[in-house]
Amino acid sequence: MNLPEEFIQIMQKRLGDDFPAFLRSYENAPCKGLRVNTLKLSAEEFARRAPFPLKERVEWAPDAFRITEEKPGADVYHFAGLYYLQEPSAMCAAPLLGVKAGERVLDLCAAPGGKTVQLAADMGGTGVLIANEIDRGRAEILAQNVERMGIANCMVTSAAPGQLSAVFSDYFDKILVDAPCSGEGMFKKEPQALAHWSRQNVAMCAARQRGILDEAVKMLAGGGKMVYSTCTFAEEEDEMQVEALLKRHPGLRLLEMKKLLPHEVCGEGHFAALLQKEDGVRRNPVGKLREVREFERARKAFDSFSDDFFGAAFGEELSVWGAAVNAVPRGMPAIDPRSVGRLSCGVELGRWDGKYFKPSHALAMAFGTRAKRKLSLSREESVRYLRGEPVPADLENGWCAVCVEEFPLGLGKCVNGVVKNHLPKGLRMLR
Ligand code: SAM
Repeated sequence: MNLPEEFIQIMQKRLGDDFPAFLRSYENAPCKGLRVNTLKLSAEEFARRAPFPLKERVEWAPDAFRITEEKPGADVYHFAGLYYLQEPSAMCAAPLLGVKAGERVLDLCAAPGGKTVQLAADMGGTGVLIANEIDRGRAEILAQNVERMGIANCMVTSAAPGQLSAVFSDYFDKILVDAPCSGEGMFKKEPQALAHWSRQNVAMCAARQRGILDEAVKMLAGGGKMVYSTCTFAEEEDEMQVEALLKRHPGLRLLEMKKLLPHEVCGEGHFAALLQKEDGVRRNPVGKLREVREFERARKAFDSFSDDFFGAAFGEELSVWGAAVNAVPRGMPAIDPRSVGRLSCGVELGRWDGKYFKPSHALAMAFGTRAKRKLSLSREESVRYLRGEPVPADLENGWCAVCVEEFPLGLGKCVNGVVKNHLPKGLRMLR
C-alpha cells in the first residue's frame, strides 16, 4: 500500500521500535467482523445456525465474531437483521459507554449505524435512543438499518449538532460521539481516506471535532457519560483533542482511554475515550410538539388491522403524524419532528390515507414475531420471497409475517393459498 510519506514519518517517530510491525500490518487482508443482533437471538444461538464459518469472538465486544466470508451481506439472515457487519476495532467504543435499559442515549454521528445497533442491543428495547446523522442521504441508510434490526425505541434524526443541542440541553444520560475523522484506520477499506490524507486535513478534522464535542457537552445531563471515538491514529484528533476538551470544560472528567493499533490487535484500529460530566442538571427537551395529530379515526383503523394481524390488542403507545401511525416507546420525547429533521420515531406501523390502513415493512421487522399468521420459510425458500416472488402457503387469507425460520423478513398478504409479496422493492435481493 502506498502510504503518504508524511504519515509514515509521523508514525515512525511516535511508535519507535514498534513501527516495523505497524507497517507490516498493512500487508494483511482487512479484518472483518459481525455482531449478532441480540434483540433477535443470542450469539450462541447464531453460532449454532451460522451460514458461514465464524472465527474467534471479538475480545472487547460481547456477541461479536471475526469472519472471513466474502459476501456476508448477501445472506438471508442478514436481510432478517440477525447480524450487523462491522470492523472489529470499531466495536470497542459502544461497550465503553456502558448504556443500560431505560436510559436516554444519543448517538450523535450515527450513520450507517454500527454503533447505534450495539447501543440498542445493550438497552434491550427500553429507554430512548436518538440516532442522529447530519447528512440526509446517510441518515436514510441509518434509518433502514434501524428498521432491519427491529429496533423499536429509536428516533432517527438528521440535524447539525447545534440544532440538536437547542432542543436537548442537559438531557442525555449517555452520548456517543463517533466523530468524522481523517480515517487513518480506514486506509485499507476506504481508498478516499488514503487519497485525502494530509496534515491540513487532520487539522481540519480536529477543528470540526472540537465544534461537535462542545455541542455534545451541552446535551449531557449532570452525572452523564460520553464516549468520544475516532478511527484515526492522529494525536491531534485523539489524545490532544481530549486534553483540550477537558481544558475547555473543567466539569468533565476523563475515566478511561483506549487506542487499538493494527499491529497490536486483530483489527484496523480505533480510539475511544470515556468522560463524565461531574455536576449539572437533567432536563426535559425544549419545544413541545406543536401539532399533536392524534387522529382517533387512524387509531381505529389501526386497531381493526391489529385485531386481525396480531389476534390481540397491540398494547403499545401510538402516535399519528401525517399519514404515519407509529408505535412510540415509553418516554420518547414529544418534540416537533421538524426541529430535528426527524426521519423515524419508534416503529412505523403503517400508513392511513383517510380510508385504508396499510401496514409498513418496519412493523414486520420489529413486531412480526407476534403476528397471528406467520409463514415460516426455509433459507432456500426465503430467497424467492427476498427476490420479490409470490410464495405458495397453507394460511388463511389476510396479512401475514413472512419469516426465514422464525425470523421476520417482511410482510405478505395471503389470498387463496398464495402469499402476495409486500417486500419494498428497494430492499429486494438482486438476482
Ligand atoms: N458511528 C457510525 C457507525 O458506527 O456506523 C460511523 C460514523 S462516521 C465515523 C462519522 C459520521 O459523522 C459520518 O456519517 C458523517 O457524515 C458525520 N458528520 C460529518 N460531519 C459532521 C458534523 N459536522 N457534525 C456531526 N456529524 C458529522
